[in-house]
Amino acid sequence: MSELRFDGRVVIVSGAGGGLGKAYSLFFASRGANVVVNDLGSGLKGEGASASAADLVVGEIKKTGGQAVADYHNVLEGEKIVETAMKTFGRVDIIVNNAGILRDRAFKSMNDKDWDDVLNVHLHGSYKITKAAWPIMRKQKFGRVIMTSSAAGIYGNFGQANYAAAKQALVGFSNSLAYEGYKYNITSNAIAPLAASRMTATVMPQEILDSLKPELIAPLVAYLTHEETKQSGGLYEIGAGTITAHRWQGTEGVVFKADASFTPAAVKERFDEISNFDGKVDYPVSMKDNDWMGKLEQAKSLST
Ligand code: NAD
Repeated sequence: MSELRFDGRVVIVSGAGGGLGKAYSLFFASRGANVVVNDLGSGLKGEGASASAADLVVGEIKKTGGQAVADYHNVLEGEKIVETAMKTFGRVDIIVNNAGILRDRAFKSMNDKDWDDVLNVHLHGSYKITKAAWPIMRKQKFGRVIMTSSAAGIYGNFGQANYAAAKQALVGFSNSLAYEGYKYNITSNAIAPLAASRMTATVMPQEILDSLKPELIAPLVAYLTHEETKQSGGLYEIGAGTITAHRWQGTEGVVFKADASFTPAAVKERFDEISNFDGKVDYPVSMKDNDWMGKLEQAKSLST
């Protein structure tokens, strides 16, 4: 198996001062990439800022002969992070949108700031960096983008309405970029990682955390962002060395007569059938895969 290398590639990793971002940065640098180690150096809830987080990672990379530059901007200033890459290394090839904060709180107690700050860092931050790099990637006809989603985004989670909303939005964002980037050899994929970091330090026992090393997420991120990898629009859950791909599943559904008989009571009567995943199912991968025209024809034939 030949080693996948990133020589000459320029990688921006946001939130790279610790946890997963640090692991990605060290990995990319060890495979020849020039890395922009972005981190605001904030606390878990987004409080404060410090240059030292990014500096320490850059120091570690340089000690082993790698190439990296620290960037301390908030991801909301994505254009400045891209500017750091352009000024230092002259291009941007790969973006790993990874920065994140938590403001977990039951929805009844969640305030506007908890909502906005979390949406801002995860979703708007990913937008700002990717938006600034997009014209560069289109022009060079090469780009690789990773959006960091979460199991909380896929399934929802108690106390994480803000976080889950941002993380699911990143999947739709990534899937849309996969379409728009196709012609320009720009791919976008979403990952839902599980790893020991300060984010998970208090929610899992130590013996489980020991098996969830952040370095165990890097191989997938590196594979998906390699120049030979064409896969785009994917969603992968990964942790402790296990990777699963995810897609949507739809039931066969029920076609109702589109007339006055289509009432809430009619829906109630056949709701088990609508929700039956044990029968025939579909695995739509695009908006076109839902056969609306066919269903329209069926509905029409029921009405005649
Ligand atoms: P972490 O807290 O160790 O890392 C996040 C980093 O982002 C921190 O270093 C922080 O300083 C930085 N950051 C925060 N706000 C920033 C901003 N506005 N601008 C720039 N940098 C900022 O957490 P982690 O576990 O390494 O998480 C990395 C990503 O993975 C996050 O998006 C997180 O939501 C996601 N994730 C992690 C897990 C997990 O199990 N650790 C699970 C699901 C998703």
